[in-house]
Amino acid sequence: MHALAADLFPFCRSITGDGVRATLARMSEEVPIEVHEVPTGTPVFDWTVPEEWNIREAWIKGPDGMEVVNFANHNLHVVGYSTAVHETMSLAELKPHLYSLPDQPELIPYRTSYYNRNWGFCLPHRQLEALGDGDYEVFIDATHGDGHLTYGELFIEGAECEEVLISCHGCHPSLANDNLAGAAVAVELARHLASEPRRLSYRFLFIPGTIGSITWLATNEEKIPNIRNGLVITCAGDAGPVSYKQTRDGNALIDRAMKLVFETSGDEFRIMEFHPYGYDERQFNSPGIKIPVGSLMRSQHGTFPEYHTSADNLDFIKPDRMVDTLEKATAAIEVLEHNARYVNLKPMGEPRLGKYGLYGGGGGQRKSDFSELALLWVLNQSDGSKDLLEIAERAGMPFRKILTAARSLEEAGLLRKEEG
Ligand code: ZN
Repeated sequence: MHALAADLFPFCRSITGDGVRATLARMSEEVPIEVHEVPTGTPVFDWTVPEEWNIREAWIKGPDGMEVVNFANHNLHVVGYSTAVHETMSLAELKPHLYSLPDQPELIPYRTSYYNRNWGFCLPHRQLEALGDGDYEVFIDATHGDGHLTYGELFIEGAECEEVLISCHGCHPSLANDNLAGAAVAVELARHLASEPRRLSYRFLFIPGTIGSITWLATNEEKIPNIRNGLVITCAGDAGPVSYKQTRDGNALIDRAMKLVFETSGDEFRIMEFHPYGYDERQFNSPGIKIPVGSLMRSQHGTFPEYHTSADNLDFIKPDRMVDTLEKATAAIEVLEHNARYVNLKPMGEPRLGKYGLYGGGGGQRKSDFSELALLWVLNQSDGSKDLLEIAERAGMPFRKILTAARSLEEAGLLRKEEG
């Protein structure tokens, strides 16, 4: 996952343009992502698909003719969606177009100007302060024009039409945690899900933030009713504890699944209530759409000093943290896949487990997943009114243990799955 993020890191992504296409092309080498192009001007709910932006070159030369900044060295140097410019101007005229972080003087900030036409450069504050008076030559070779909004979609069909949505934004340029780590985790999750038989169907979206989800929803309205749960995966690789932002109502199956996974993991974690700021969960949870989509992350946007700066680089994301995020997502999906109600077929007292080979270690189950106490919980609670997730919640046990117990009991003829 870290290697994929590293490959994607240099591309100059934005809400549209060739950087997005290059990103999706590279990701398509890993999993079969379908690339969609929606034309500029397409009305999407209350919005319109914007003009496509592409940039080739950008720099500032100082009074001595020396380069001050060059887009070729770091794509954060240019404000995203900057208009083309080629002018010579005084430092006083240039300064309103320069952005820096006085509190983090060594870092380049990340800035965009999507819906307000302007141009600008971002640079370390230390460098900005050192600029002397004189004439500066400013050059940005960029185009805005009719084109497309590009996004990627990957549908993994299951036995049932009920869908789980996994969405990541891919509109930030060279920023590692705030977008690439999430996309890399999602790619591995897709690969894992596609490799196993599954009950549910999965729809992965790799989209530009806000306008991408709005565009997808507006052009795929007929698909919305099948989507019952979802996750936005974002900021998935920093060293912070794993975190989950709940869906709008906070009581969807995905909310309960994530909570159980976190609580039974033994790891530090955070669960935040829904709030209408953040990433595309805002659109999916809007009142007309109402798909319960939570957000899986490590550190929350805006809360870490590296956020939206050149310090959100490949060193900031950790391979083991990405693996941990992936495992948490996989465990929550296991709950969605296998949650069901069962009925105890020997409910008069406890069955004598030894008779069925279920006492003291079980049959061929992995020892770490087998638990006699889990057998007793499943037998005791399975009157057909409670599902395995409820039993795991009440027992305070990992879902895998409760599921393993239910399967052992089912094989032994002590338990029957309730349909529907
Ligand atoms: Zn961001």
